[in-house]
Amino acid sequence: MTLGLEDQVILVTGGNRGIGSAIVNLLLELGSKVAYTYRSIHTPQLGTLAISADVTDKIGMAQVAEQVEKQLGAIDGIVANAGITKDNFFPKVTSADWDAVIDTNLKGVYNTLQPIIPKMYDRRSGSVVCISSISGEQGNLGQTNYAASKAAVIGFTKSLAKEAARYGVRVNAVAPGFIETDMLNPISDKVKQRILSEIPLSRFGKPEEIAWAVAFLLSPLASSYITGTVLRVNGAHHT
Ligand code: NDP
Repeated sequence: MTLGLEDQVILVTGGNRGIGSAIVNLLLELGSKVAYTYRSIHTPQLGTLAISADVTDKIGMAQVAEQVEKQLGAIDGIVANAGITKDNFFPKVTSADWDAVIDTNLKGVYNTLQPIIPKMYDRRSGSVVCISSISGEQGNLGQTNYAASKAAVIGFTKSLAKEAARYGVRVNAVAPGFIETDMLNPISDKVKQRILSEIPLSRFGKPEEIAWAVAFLLSPLASSYITGTVLRVNGAHHT
């Protein structure tokens, strides 16, 4: 038995590190043809198509879609993973930090999906997974901009799922809890201890644990009747 992701062409944004990198590695193991975008300098993962791109660049993301199709074939799955935080208490959130987070986390999803979705409609198949966050569902101190962007991703996912269903395209979101990546670096040890005390599984998640949830939702076999849903992967962290 497999997840049916062998030879499927899947594009992952922000696949060079953190959760995105774990998704790329798992999809490779599952036999997919994986393309991913990166911004910072890194060593491209063997057996993948690595493309330098910024999700805030609409034209650049259309070129990414073209390049993936040309080199790997029609795109079966998209993982809109790239994201940033610019945390601060609301009175101190600058306009620049507000715009950067919304542009990357929300407009970036639009820029990534827009060139590809019509082609999925034409082919009557496809699966999209957007990475939201526990902050988008529950809110979080110092994250008004980030939580707003991730809540918007959930609204986007549920709406696109309704539109896309008639074309055989599924759209879902994963809402990770706190996952051990660079994104947790700015959080002080004291705050980390407080957060840990609120998580019933008593630990932060691992990027690989998000990757398995993504693979499940991409799978045409495992999740064929699931669309418009938000899969929480957070160790029962409900504040
Ligand atoms: P990391 O900071 O480890 O990685 C972020 C990734 O996004 C990097 O690959 C980065 O590329 C890429 N990225 C950021 N901005 C852009 C951009 N403008 N264009 C292209 N790529 C970009 O974070 P995580 O792996 O932890 O986060 C991945 C996703 O998971 C994000 O959407 C995040 O919001 C979400 N998430 C993370 C949680 C966590 O606790 N870690 C919790 C809930 C959700 P580069 O290397 O070039 O900067």
